[in-house]
Amino acid sequence: MNSKYSEITAYCRKHGVKLVAVSKTKTPAEVLEVYQQGQRCFGENKVQELLQKHEALPSDIEWHMIGHLQSNKVKQLVTVVSLIQSVDSRKLLLEIDKEAKKKEQIMKVLLQVHIAEEETKFGLSYAEAQALIRDSGQNIFQNVAICGLMGMATLTDNDAQISNEFRKLKTFFEAMKVVKQDPEFKILSIGMSSDYRIAVEEGSNMIRIGTAIFGRRSA
Ligand SMILES: *Cc1c(COP(=O)(O)O)cnc(C)c1O
Repeated sequence: MNSKYSEITAYCRKHGVKLVAVSKTKTPAEVLEVYQQGQRCFGENKVQELLQKHEALPSDIEWHMIGHLQSNKVKQLVTVVSLIQSVDSRKLLLEIDKEAKKKEQIMKVLLQVHIAEEETKFGLSYAEAQALIRDSGQNIFQNVAICGLMGMATLTDNDAQISNEFRKLKTFFEAMKVVKQDPEFKILSIGMSSDYRIAVEEGSNMIRIGTAIFGRRSA
């Protein structure tokens, strides 16, 4: 029994937040332990690893892709994942749309917005995200459903900075709801092990938790 897991699910229930258990680098057996405690939604950041776990684990798991995705790997993911959280370019969104169309599917995605100070993290600028949301109301992107936004705050001990980064994204999210006028655009995926309480205070409704559930990653 993983008591950290119970604590986090209780917190999520209380705040009406969806939990994505981030299982990257963990073995199928470790994932299964958390599955047996009731978790059905898992996030991975590498295509190959996601596909392997999808094969090895129960079919009622909802898989989310949360890592940087290369266009040439989209094809393999489209029928496997429930949500691609890490759309960080127009090129990638076009590719997802194309592959989803071939498979006669509507692929749910989030736009990953770059909100951190570090330049190393992937993501769209606010202006790029806004342009994609505007264009998604036109006739392009017919086989993708943009269901919201994902962001990662700067890795810092400065809680005020983290709050500010999340708050700015939440404000943008609310503005885009007005632009998009689509009830499906409703997910704000912010918050990881170190900052999920701040994220929820700032309006997150989906948190992505690895370390706090599974323990530290060796890789
Ligand atoms: C690894 C990862 C997480 C989880 O990080 P923890 O600090 O282990 O909770 C969340 N989101 C993304 C995009 C990740 O790559």
